[in-house]
Amino acid sequence: MNFSEIINEIYSEVKCGETDGHVASYIPELLNVNPDKFGIALLTVDGNEFCCGDAEEKFSIQSISKVFALSIAFSLLGEKIWERMGVEPSGTSFNSIMQLEYEKGKPRNPFINAGALVVADILVSNLKNPKEEFLEFVKEISGNISISFNHKIAQSEKEFGFRNAALINMMKSYGNIKNDIELILDFYFFLCSIEMTCKELAQSFLPYANLSKPFNYKNFPLTKSQIKRINALMISCGFYDESGEFAFKVGLPGKSGVGGGIVAIHPNIYSVAVWSPRINSKGNSVFGMKTLEMLTTKTEISIF
Ligand code: GLU
Repeated sequence: MNFSEIINEIYSEVKCGETDGHVASYIPELLNVNPDKFGIALLTVDGNEFCCGDAEEKFSIQSISKVFALSIAFSLLGEKIWERMGVEPSGTSFNSIMQLEYEKGKPRNPFINAGALVVADILVSNLKNPKEEFLEFVKEISGNISISFNHKIAQSEKEFGFRNAALINMMKSYGNIKNDIELILDFYFFLCSIEMTCKELAQSFLPYANLSKPFNYKNFPLTKSQIKRINALMISCGFYDESGEFAFKVGLPGKSGVGGGIVAIHPNIYSVAVWSPRINSKGNSVFGMKTLEMLTTKTEISIF
């Protein structure tokens, strides 16, 4: 497979295309990013890498960190975590509160904000130093000790995090949040403010693609069956109320973030990360979606 040629071709084609997306403005600090940034990094399980554009520039990974948080929680508590959240697509936006009331404070899945707040609560209950241990996990899985978070972004989100505060209060009223709300929100905003490059992101998702290698980072092991479940959740819930569209057009497990990043994996073949900050109304990068749709079309390989 000539990934290099295909990636370069897609990059040039997508870059010249139209976009009706906008940089996320509900976290004011995210607006400071150049909207024209665009990078792609594809890493194969057999050790090759292909990068294009701004693939080595750091950006805020936002909700992509929900996959790392779920991985740690799943490793710590196993199947018990599903007592507190479901595994169904929500069909609602990432920060929707409506469904949460109908369903008595039990979020549909770990990748909508409500679910990720429950996961954050689990980590706060079970880790001695949640921020440190989370960052150590991310450093180890990405093989890069320079990974850090952006204090300004975390602070900006805290100042304007009214919706997340509403979600967590609603869940607390139903008894699905155990710790102090401020503590969990602080940890959650920290997770979302982790910064990575496309290359680092692709590297850190390679273990979810490379099923022949045991998964054990910072003593948080996951079995093959648990990786299968995380990948299944990425395909059914990784793109909020556009998850069906992503599966339909791209056909890979993946996760997006409102910073404009998308990461996706092809089991046993590759991991790919794209970053372009202009997102659509569903919170997903317009160029990111387009790039991955073209990738599976041109390579003629997806999981389907
Ligand atoms: N930090 C964002 C929030 O909680 C994450 C949303 C996203 O990336 O989709 O609103």
